[in-house]
Order: sequence, then C-alpha cells, then structure tokens
Amino acid sequence: MTAHFKQSVQCTTCPYCGVGCGVDATVINDKITAVKGTQHHPANRGKLCVKGTHLADTVGGDDRVLNAVVDGEVVSNELASRAVAERFNQIIQEHGPDAVAFYVSGQILTEDYYVANKLMKGYIGSANIDTNSRLCMSSAVAAYKRSLGSDTVPTCYEDIDLTQMLVLVGSNAAWTHPILFQRMQQAKANNPSLKIVIIDPRESATCDIADLHLPIKPGSDIALFNGLLDFLIENGAVDDAFVAHHTEQFRQAAVSASAYSLAEVSAICGVSQKALRQFYQWFVEAPSTLSFYSQGVNQSVQGVDKCNAIINCHLASGQIGKPGAGPFSITGQPNAMGGREVGGLANMLAAHMNIETTQHRDWVQDFWQSPTMCHTAGLKAVDLFEAIGSGRVKAVWIMATNPVVSLPNRNAIEQALASCECVVVSECFTQNDTLAYADIILPASTWGEKNGTVTNSERCISRQRGLIAPPGQAQHDWQWLTQVAQAMGFVEGFNYTHPHGIFVEHARLSGWCNGGDYPFRAFDISGLAELTRAQYDALAPIQWPVNQEHPYGTQRMFADKRFFTETGKARFIPVTLQQHQEPADKAYPWILTSGRYRDQWHTMTRTGRSATLAANQTEPMLALAPKDVEALGFVEGDLAQVKSPYGQILLPFTEAKGQRQGTCFAPIHWTAQTAPSANVARCYSPRKDAISGQPDSKYVQVSIAPVTPTQHWQILSRLEISLDLPYWAKLPVAQSGIGYVAASIEAVEPVSFMNTLSSDGEWVHLSNQPKGQFSAVLLKDGQIQMMVFGQPSKDLLPWPWLSSVRQAGVSAKEAIGPLLLRDVPLEFSQGQTICSCFKVGENTITSHLSQHPHATLEDLGKALQCGTNCGSCRPELKQIIERAKAPRVSLEHIIHTTNTLV
Ligand code: SF4
Repeated sequence: MTAHFKQSVQCTTCPYCGVGCGVDATVINDKITAVKGTQHHPANRGKLCVKGTHLADTVGGDDRVLNAVVDGEVVSNELASRAVAERFNQIIQEHGPDAVAFYVSGQILTEDYYVANKLMKGYIGSANIDTNSRLCMSSAVAAYKRSLGSDTVPTCYEDIDLTQMLVLVGSNAAWTHPILFQRMQQAKANNPSLKIVIIDPRESATCDIADLHLPIKPGSDIALFNGLLDFLIENGAVDDAFVAHHTEQFRQAAVSASAYSLAEVSAICGVSQKALRQFYQWFVEAPSTLSFYSQGVNQSVQGVDKCNAIINCHLASGQIGKPGAGPFSITGQPNAMGGREVGGLANMLAAHMNIETTQHRDWVQDFWQSPTMCHTAGLKAVDLFEAIGSGRVKAVWIMATNPVVSLPNRNAIEQALASCECVVVSECFTQNDTLAYADIILPASTWGEKNGTVTNSERCISRQRGLIAPPGQAQHDWQWLTQVAQAMGFVEGFNYTHPHGIFVEHARLSGWCNGGDYPFRAFDISGLAELTRAQYDALAPIQWPVNQEHPYGTQRMFADKRFFTETGKARFIPVTLQQHQEPADKAYPWILTSGRYRDQWHTMTRTGRSATLAANQTEPMLALAPKDVEALGFVEGDLAQVKSPYGQILLPFTEAKGQRQGTCFAPIHWTAQTAPSANVARCYSPRKDAISGQPDSKYVQVSIAPVTPTQHWQILSRLEISLDLPYWAKLPVAQSGIGYVAASIEAVEPVSFMNTLSSDGEWVHLSNQPKGQFSAVLLKDGQIQMMVFGQPSKDLLPWPWLSSVRQAGVSAKEAIGPLLLRDVPLEFSQGQTICSCFKVGENTITSHLSQHPHATLEDLGKALQCGTNCGSCRPELKQIIERAKAPRVSLEHIIHTTNTLV
C-alpha cells in the first residue's frame, strides 16, 4: 500500500502582535510542521521574532475544546447553536435587546468580527458588542478621532527607516513588537545620526537602542508632552503655515501647554531639566520625528489625553503626513485594527461610521437591509461586565478571549459571570479560566485553521489562511455566528458559506455612501469589493484605503494635509494633567505597572504550550528597584505579597536595576491554570479613561511585603497534578511533561506532601537533613513518572537535565541515584536560557566571555549561535557582555571582606 504524502508551503499571518508578520508555513499531511518569515511580506521581510519562530510548537496538542457543551452535556453543533439562539431570544423578548451582549476579541478575524457586529447591531438591535481590544488601543482610537476626525493611523513601517528622530513612549518594543524593534536597530545602524528617545518609567530592554532614556514617573506623560509643545512655541519651532491653514484650536492647546514651567515639568515627571531640554531640543532640530506609542500610553485614566498630547506636538511642528514623521500607535493584537474597521467596538458602527449620526445608522441599515439598528453606543468592556454583575445584561457570548484573566478586578468579573443567566464561551483551548463560567461552550478554530483577513498596525490587510482542518467539532467563529443568527430567525442576512462572501460585503460597505456626493471616510476598501474567491485566496498584503483613487493601497495618510473633520482641519486638543490618580493612601505606597515577557503573549493559552518559549522566563515575578528590595527587607527566594484595594497576588520578587524606585512591575501572563496566585489583574482597579473606557492597567497603588517560604519545591511530572500550595507556577518541559515551581509558607512534611501528589506507583526518596533537602522519584512500570525536590532555598535544578533523564536511552535504574543525590552533570549547568532559538544559557555565554573578554555580539553569535536567528535576545546578550566587562572585585578585597566577616 502506498502512503499518501502531501506537503505544501503556504503564506499566512502571525497570530500574535500587531506587527502582523507574514509566515510561510510548511504543512505535511494536515500538520503544520515548520514556519519561517515570508520574504515578500512588507511587515517583516522574512524575519520572525522568537514567538513567531516557534509557532509550529503551539499547534496540535490534546488540550483543544473539541465538542459543544450545553449545561455540562456534550451536544451536536446544531443543538448548541439552537440553545444559544433560544436563550438569547428569550432574554431579548423579556428584557429587550440591551439585555444581551457579545464580548469578542482582537484575535478573531475581520470576517468573524463583521458578522458578530452585523448580528448585534443590525439584527438584535443593540450596540452591546465590545472587545478585548478595548484594553489595548481604544485610547489611541479616540485620540485619532478627536484630532484627525478619523481612526486613521497616519504612518507606516517604512517611516521607521526614514525618520531622523524616533520617540518611543510607553513601549517596550524589544519584547512586545520585536520585528519593528529590529527595524529600529537597523535604522540606527544605517543612520548613526538618528536620535532615539525612550520614555518609560522602566529601563526596559528597548533602552538598548536609546540615545536618551527619560524614566518618567508613571502617568506623567501629559506634563512631558505639554512641556514639549510649550518649548516648540517658545523656541520658534512651530510650523506656522501648517498650523494656520490645516489645523484649529492651536491657541487653546498652547494655553494648556504653558501651565507648567520646565522646572515644574521636571518635578512632575521626575526627570532632570537637562534631560528634558535635550529631548525637546532634539525634537526641534529633527527634520522628521516619529512617535511610536503603545499600551504604556493607552492603558490609563487619561489615555486619550496622553495620545492627544503627543499628536498636538506633531501638529504644531507639521510632523505628520510626511515620510518619517507622525504619531504612530502600535496595536498589541493581530487584528485590533480589523475589529475597528467593522465596528467591533461598542461605540462604533461599521466601516468607520458613527452610531450617534442618524444618517450613518440609516446608511448601514439600508446596506444590510436589516430589520433594526442600534441607536446609541453600547456598553464598553468594564461597564459591560459591571452590567452583567448588576443583572442588567443577562446573557453574554464571549469569543476568543479570557476576560477573567485580563479585565481589571478579577474578583468582580468572576462574581459577575457566576451570577449571569447565560454565559456562552467560544474557545479553542481548554486552558482558559473563563470556561469555568460557561453555560454553553462552543469549540472554535484557531490559527492555522482560521481563514480570513487581519489588519496590522500600519493599516495593512493580510490573509490569515486556513492551512489545516479544525479538530473535532470545532468551527470558525463566523460559522457559529451565522448558525446562531439563522436559529434566531435571521436567515436572510446570514447566508454566508465562505469568508470570501463576508469580506467582499465588508469591502462594499466601506465604499457605501463614501466620497463623491457624500463626505469621505478614511476607511475605504471598495477597490477589493469585486475580488473573486480565487483573488481573495491569493490576496497579497495591501494597506487601506484601497479604492478607485488608490487601487494599489495607501502607504501614508494625510500627505494632502486634508483631515477627516468637518472643516478638513486637524484639531489641537487642549489637555491638562489630572494629578494622578487615586487618593494618596499610605496603606498602598507603591505603584504597580504591568506588561509582557519577551517570549510570551497574553494569557499564554498558545505560547504557554511551547517548552522552548517557557525556557527564558519560567515563572511570574515582581520586579523591584534594588533600593526598594533593601528597604522592604527582601532576601533571595522570598515571595512578594502584593495587595491593592481590589485584590492581592503572591509571586517571586526579582531585583531589577532598571526599575524606578517606588514602582514595581509584574507580567500579565499568568492565570488560574498556570500560576493562580500571580494573576496581576486581580490587583488592577476598575478605573478607566472617561472617553475611551480603556482600563488603567499601568497604575494601581499597592502594598508590598516579603514572605519567606519554608520550602521551595520543584516537580517534573508526566501528568498534570493538583497542588494545594500558596504559590505555584507551571511550565511545559521539553519532551518530558509538566514542570512546577512551588513554595510552601507553613512547614510541610515532605513524605506526606509527596504522597498527596500521587499514589500511583512506588516512591523512592532521600532526605539530606543537614541541608534540609528532600528528593523523591515516583516509579511505575520501570519508568520515572514524577520527580520532586524540596529545599529551604530556591536552588532549582536545571530543567534540561531533569528532562534528559526521562528521555529514551536512560534507564530509571541508572537515573535514580544521580537524581536523588542531585548530581547535575556539568553540561547541564548552563543557567537561564537567553537565546530560545538555539537554547543557549547564561552560564554558557558568561563562560565564553570569561575566556574571550573582548568578544562582541557578533563574536558570540559566531561561537555559540545565540542571537543569530530571530534576534529577540540581542538586548540581553548586550547586557551580559556589558556586565562581563564591568570591573571585577579584587581577590584582595574578597579576602579582606571575608576576614572582616569572620
Ligand atoms: Fe508575530 Fe513576532 Fe511578528 Fe509580532 S513581531 S507578528 S509576535 S513574529
């Protein structure tokens, strides 16, 4: 019999950040086996960061949601669709359309988003559809609309190559948008006179490329940019002709900007006048300036004002609509912009039309031929979950997102969902905290299976292609929506059979009543409305607008100095810093900010499946400045108990040189599935921007106290285990199972603890009383099932070693002695993995540097390969090289110190 062997390489788009890189995926016999960057994709030109590089590790697996479930019973997809429709219809009948809601996601495709928005706004008749993109970039959207008259990003990635000054505000691009960061590095290498200024309370990895780092106090950005506007005015750097002919409200903004002297700005921001003057002077002198901003600006009670403070400076200096210049908000999600195009936010209609404008509502209803139309804006994310909690919203359909983990004030979100009459969750992975609250679970397709389009941060529409079939009964979100819509009685508007039909309808709507006798809207892809299915399948990346005037797309906006306001002029928005924020409370003296790790994305439902990606940072952490570590009395191995008025978390502390004193930082990724005590959203406050509704995830006052564990635990198990300890974190370990790092506060008797983990097999254990160490191995059928190591200090054994003894060729008999004695072979003592692509550890690098003290980054790459693939680790490699060059403490000094201590 001849086995069928099918292999293809297809181009698709990365499902993580808003850079939107092209990915060439190799598919063999319905399995994605390898990926590499697409050479001809304009976003990445063949490169991928570490997350994209390891995409193939994250597909497949046995943790997919495979069947529809209604009230705990597995049912057919048809029955599940009918159950959703009946429950929604009943609630609408009894309580009206505003009693139901959708909470969707920047991870779904534009076609999914379009159908969801159409169903809610044009057929159910409510605008209660909001998205997790509200947490990502809604402040940037509102600021663009206030100032430019439209949610239109003026710039493009090529501007990074062309600019003479790059300002990064609230963005750790080196970790969050690595491919753009590498483009910035390249721009600096090509043009050494390029000035790069980083504005961020933390000295993050991105500061690696900084000519100047301004470590401002969290939340003080408005004072900084108002100070810049005032400086531009005072120093004759205003583009008078541009301001006079193409803008309005300049005078009002100028008055607001003059509120503080340079000395006052310096005091408010916590940076020196000299550094401020340097930044302002460079801005004045630069022929072109690009301001690149992200969640550090958006996620704030004054997120919209912060964005407008930045835009004001670009308008004053005429730095917009020109190559290398403009305000450039970067999205954190793969399709945040696609969602905005179809009206996936509760305060938008479709195709960039406004809910408040009667004519727009009529146009959309006319186009859809729909039975109804929402009349007012719906509930934004935080308000929506408050309304669920109060019982105003009685049914919610959550799609491709994990609000229990990501929304502020987790306790309140859990209570809201627990009390909600009908919670529907569409999800692809079982490792999602929100699933625990679902009455109805709908199995969804994921990356590699989904088929449609996404739009990245530079308005570029790319195809995300369906490469393999979804497993089990999983379906695409647009299919679920279509089936539910039809079951609700809306057959006419939802007879889609392929995403192509949805896309061309969306493209036609974008050109509907747009231009000619009607006012122009920026979002117009009517040039794609006639695509055939084959053309849609083959669609190459293209930047909107795409219409008769711009059939090949539009790289840069506002070159004609015409804006989308009623007057055609851009608006200055006067902004004033509202002194931050919560009442000063001595009980909560620290400011907690949050963000991401280099190798993880969001709540790790996907990246958390890759052992390679887990190797760089194996646990959550709270980063503290060295002086704060000392002041708080932390010692090595302690946990940090962090409390805000809304909740508390417990996680390991890390001393971080780049952390601003008085502030601390925690990553956002951990959930009840992976480290239940470390979900940082428990501490977030529900405060949000009054205009955008975006929650303030970058500022909450907390108390911090060290907690010293009595024992630290390290466990490697073939199967999931249940741990009843105050702190634990889980990670995948290559080829050998699941790793756990844990700590107990109360003393735990090791043998009893071991027995609670499993009784399926025979335990062999060894106690080293003087050192307080305990080691145990669980054997079953001659195989090692589990290893457990306990000790008073946090000395973890190398995971690669533990993993290696579980792999083929090593008998349990051979392995057991060294394991119990913790006899680590030399080759496994390589320390924290720095280069995930080639698995190069810190100790290997420092050992090489000790022999080659003058080695450069390139030398390291040649010798060890580290940093030569995706490049994401290059900032860390540079730091290690710098540390290795630092003067060493002399032997004489050590002897002296030791003598003194003795
Ligand atoms: Fe994906 Fe990395 Fe590109 Fe972002 S930068 S789209 S995570 S490959």
